[in-house]
Amino acid sequence: MQNTVTPTHCPYCALQCGMNLTSAPDGTVEVSERADFPVNRGALCGKGRTAPAVLSSSVRLTSPLVRSEGGSLVPASWEEALGRIAGRLGRTRAEFGADAVGVFGGGGLTNEKAYSLGKFARVVLGTSQIDYNGRFCMSSAAAAGGRAFGLDRGLPFPLEDIPKTGCVILVGSNPAETMPPSLRYFTELKENGGTLIVVDPRRTRTAEQADLHLAPRPGTDLALALGLLHLIVAEGRTDEAYIQERTTGWEETRAAAMAHWPEYVERITGVSVPQLREAVRLFCEPEAAMVLTARGPEQQSKGTDTVGAWINLCLATGRAGRPLSGYGCLTGQGNGQGGREHGQKADQLPGYRKLTDPAARAHVAAVWGVAPDSLPGPGRSAYELLDALGTDIRALLLMGSNPVVSAPRAAHIEERIRSLDFLAVCDVVLSETAALADVVLPVTQWAEETGTTTNLEGRVLLRRRAITPPEGVRSDLEVMHELAARLGGEGGGLEKGFPVDPEEVFEELRRASAGGPADYSGITYRRLAEENGVFWPCPAPAAGPGPLHAAGPEAGALDTVSDGPARAGEPRTGTGVHPGTPRLFLDRFATEDGRARFVPVSHRAIAEEPDAEYPVLLTTGRVVAQYQSGAQTRRVDELNAAAPGPFVELHPRLAERLGVADGDPVAVVSRRGRAVAPGRITTAIRPDTVFMPFHWAGEGRANTLTNPALDPISRMPEFKACAVRVEAARP
Ligand code: SF4
Repeated sequence: MQNTVTPTHCPYCALQCGMNLTSAPDGTVEVSERADFPVNRGALCGKGRTAPAVLSSSVRLTSPLVRSEGGSLVPASWEEALGRIAGRLGRTRAEFGADAVGVFGGGGLTNEKAYSLGKFARVVLGTSQIDYNGRFCMSSAAAAGGRAFGLDRGLPFPLEDIPKTGCVILVGSNPAETMPPSLRYFTELKENGGTLIVVDPRRTRTAEQADLHLAPRPGTDLALALGLLHLIVAEGRTDEAYIQERTTGWEETRAAAMAHWPEYVERITGVSVPQLREAVRLFCEPEAAMVLTARGPEQQSKGTDTVGAWINLCLATGRAGRPLSGYGCLTGQGNGQGGREHGQKADQLPGYRKLTDPAARAHVAAVWGVAPDSLPGPGRSAYELLDALGTDIRALLLMGSNPVVSAPRAAHIEERIRSLDFLAVCDVVLSETAALADVVLPVTQWAEETGTTTNLEGRVLLRRRAITPPEGVRSDLEVMHELAARLGGEGGGLEKGFPVDPEEVFEELRRASAGGPADYSGITYRRLAEENGVFWPCPAPAAGPGPLHAAGPEAGALDTVSDGPARAGEPRTGTGVHPGTPRLFLDRFATEDGRARFVPVSHRAIAEEPDAEYPVLLTTGRVVAQYQSGAQTRRVDELNAAAPGPFVELHPRLAERLGVADGDPVAVVSRRGRAVAPGRITTAIRPDTVFMPFHWAGEGRANTLTNPALDPISRMPEFKACAVRVEAARP
């Protein structure tokens, strides 16, 4: 037998780097360079390089576990485990109503799983109570993008455009740690004569590469953007012809910005007026420029308005919907983009359709073979859903998420999870959340299953199965199929709507998304394999035979795709194959009138400002060697050696005041709890702020401290700024 080489993609972040997986007859799996994938051109970070370690980890789950009478988790057969889940979910539904059963998904699930999970919740369980951890990732950018442009796609242009623009403002993003292979786009930008401005309260590895680093106080980047817009107007740098032709709402936005004098903004943010002026000069002088945001501005209780303020900056200067210019969000999770498009979000149906739109309900209901009225309405957002556990929501099915570590106010959420009548978790290892479950199902992971993801550029990709999963492990799709069979009630047969073959699920997803904002109907597994990914929207051909037409109009309603007006940036190719849409909005935005909408916003304080009792700001984030809640990466020796545990980054002046030396235990206390971790003293952080990475559980869990104050539109919690007290934690 010979080695098998499979071209595929990394299981972790939204860059979705291409890699080759070589599996040997002895079962070993190695990662090697895959230079033909344009996004990373072979480069990988340590997480991607070591990803196979989780496949064969000694802590990998290979048998279902059920809670014994004695209270411990013990191995059980699949039959018993599935029977218990179906029995408890069914009884909860019968006794307390469908909304007493909750479903919680993840931004790492493939498109097929996310699609099936949304359908499972609404068709099999009949519950409205479904949301996912992607709500904690980029929902504010999605809300702001939708509000301004009529459509949310993380980047409306491919990454390859970045080196060709004139200036990039990177707001609250640290790709040097979160997605290192992407850093080359910014390096090339500088080599080509462009400039990089980084906005971050910390002097991160990315900020060190910047031509200009602005370090605002956490939670004040909305004011910063307004101050820049004020100067742009005052210096006569707006693009009036563009504003006139391609936007609406400028006058109100202009007036709001003019109320934010540079000196006032300096007082709020700590960024000096000369630095503001320099940023404006660098951004406005070149012909093209971009603003890219990430979790910094997004994970705030005013995240939608903060991102909106940066979008306004682009619109006022004519830097959106033009070549090499625009606003984009650097999505974080592996399938953060696709995961928010196909129905596991509380308010959404596949194809990025709205659950409240009667036409969308009718279309998707037809594909699913159910009555539109049978589909529940929108449910609670992620934090609100987790907060309702044990009260309104009595039983929970959780897939691909670890909220005990990743949710804000995590000790409270852990307590809510413990108070459930019943919890079922599908995972590859016994995460901190799985350890609390009544039933744990061991499921396949990336290299053991085929499926699609959509990277931060909106490029739909095929991850191929490269190895056989361990015995005893089944895929999430099989789990939903089996549970549908058991929960089908009289007549049964619901499982037929939940195929276990991912390509079959994708074929249905194509029909369900056809005509929607995120239209995948022209994408097939074959194209994905041949073309190295396809950018959505990609409608099916206007005419001609194919699997979609064969399915019949009642199943696919393809006619909604063929004759409608061209969407923003969408090339029409007659009856040929649609090439996909790498660049959006070049001709028109996706709003009804084709114009982008300015939305006036004003500075407001974070939900919890420092005071005498809690005088310091806490901000949280990531380190290069760990991923999200660490459920997978904390099982990899090489990554643990590089990033063994949590820490508290603090300025020497604060350390001196506390009397702590580098490495001493430091306690960080907020109104929600206390965390302790070794101090790391550095001048790279503001003296009024401490930083903690959030990848770990236990005593150093950063999310014990974070504030669940929600953005009123995106329902994003305020992970990025809360008031804390910092103390030496000597024994
Ligand atoms: Fe690429 Fe992200 Fe995987 Fe690292 S974690 S290899 S940056 S996809």
